[in-house]
Amino acid sequence: MIVYGTDKAALKSTAYSGKCVNCNTAGSVQIHLFQKYAQIFWIIPLFPLKKVGYSQCSNCKQVLDSTQFDSIYKMGYDALRTGSRTPVWSFSGLAIIAVLVAWIMITVKNNTEENRKLISSPKKGDIYEIKLGYQEYTLIRVSHLVEDTVYFNPHSYQTNKITGLSDLKRKGDEAYTEEIVSLLKGELLAKLESKEILDVER
Ligand SMILES: [Zn+2]
Repeated sequence: MIVYGTDKAALKSTAYSGKCVNCNTAGSVQIHLFQKYAQIFWIIPLFPLKKVGYSQCSNCKQVLDSTQFDSIYKMGYDALRTGSRTPVWSFSGLAIIAVLVAWIMITVKNNTEENRKLISSPKKGDIYEIKLGYQEYTLIRVSHLVEDTVYFNPHSYQTNKITGLSDLKRKGDEAYTEEIVSLLKGELLAKLESKEILDVER
């Protein structure tokens, strides 16, 4: 579960040279600029939201947010805003997601390469995950080889979920039938490309 929220971080502040609009004290007001950002898991910044500002008077303690600023406070606030960039760290979550996606893509690619290698040099006992049709999956196991023809024993069971294949594997060696199915290596590679062969295990 992803816990989503927002938070803000102080970016900059500046002293306002005029008088406080509330208590009329000169030089008592500080204007602060904050970056609001979306965050996940209470701590990881996901992406930046808008910048927000507050004024605070050290004398009368009045705090105003930027929507309540009069035109003079607003000038100081706008100067703060133009002089501040959106901090790079506020994109951390998006960067992490981009890295994860890239990593998954590389893993999938490597797994496909690995499966190509296994199919090109099959060994007795290799197990192939097969998609037979819509919500129909099973396993076949390499029984023997004659030149470029690979002979398989199909599993006795089928499953309607891809995740059910691990249950089939747990049934062990006895769950494979004595039946023989033969396929050429070229056909196997084609079936890997068309995703009829989902995975190969040695
Ligand atoms: Zn004041």
